[in-house]
Amino acid sequence: VDKSSQRLTIAIQKSGRLSKESIALLQACGFKFSLHEARLLAHSSNQPVDLLRVRDDDIPGLVMDGVVDLGLVGENVLEEVRLERQATKLASTVQRLRALDFGQCRLSLAIPKEENYTGVKDLEGKRIATTYPYLLQNYLQQQGVSASNAILTGSVEVAPRAGLADAVCDLVSTGATLEANGLVEKEVIFRSQAQLIQRPEPLSAAKQAIVDQLLPRIDGVQMARE
Ligand code: ATP
Ligand code: ZN
Repeated sequence: VDKSSQRLTIAIQKSGRLSKESIALLQACGFKFSLHEARLLAHSSNQPVDLLRVRDDDIPGLVMDGVVDLGLVGENVLEEVRLERQATKLASTVQRLRALDFGQCRLSLAIPKEENYTGVKDLEGKRIATTYPYLLQNYLQQQGVSASNAILTGSVEVAPRAGLADAVCDLVSTGATLEANGLVEKEVIFRSQAQLIQRPEPLSAAKQAIVDQLLPRIDGVQMARE
């Protein structure tokens, strides 16, 4: 990325649950993009704005390092990366510009349905499968519970049946995936929605002017949808 570029760079998820709505929001705000499936970068044809399309996990770090100017990402990923980078002494601050009205989900603890459960203390000494080890440990610490992680990047919900863990800490929206795997949701540890974030260092005047124009448009679009 050319840091001297006067084009505002916005990171969005390339393909996944936030992609369609991220693009739709930016289009509703008046930016025109022609997206080619294979391309990482998409230029706006009517504004000095570029979209960088990456995995959602990469978005917070790119914004925190100032490699891109803005990012649209779930709060769950933002907070996980923030905690991870804090622990490893990497830049971990961003400016939160807006909460966005999509990407709603929750990170929850679930256990096999045949297990008894009276409270989070029951997880003491247990192993919990998750993709979110920092959010999980943060929560357990607050609760005064010590449990170990089984860190998986996918298929978290099959871990108990596979004998890899006693419980799971996973994203839930309807609960259908948990139920299909014989699991019952017991605690919500984090509620999430998409966020618009900005890099910590100030933007050039030209880029700031675009952001100043973008924010009221986002407010207008979201107000109209309420
Ligand atoms: P990537 O390949 O980019 O890493 P991923 O598989 O990690 O994708 P997705 O499943 O596409 O991620 O989810 C992206 C984000 O969407 C999640 O981190 C969360 O913020 C949000 N999300 C998760 N589940 C839902 C849901 N059921 N409905 C809406 N948003 C969700
Ligand atoms: Zn991801």
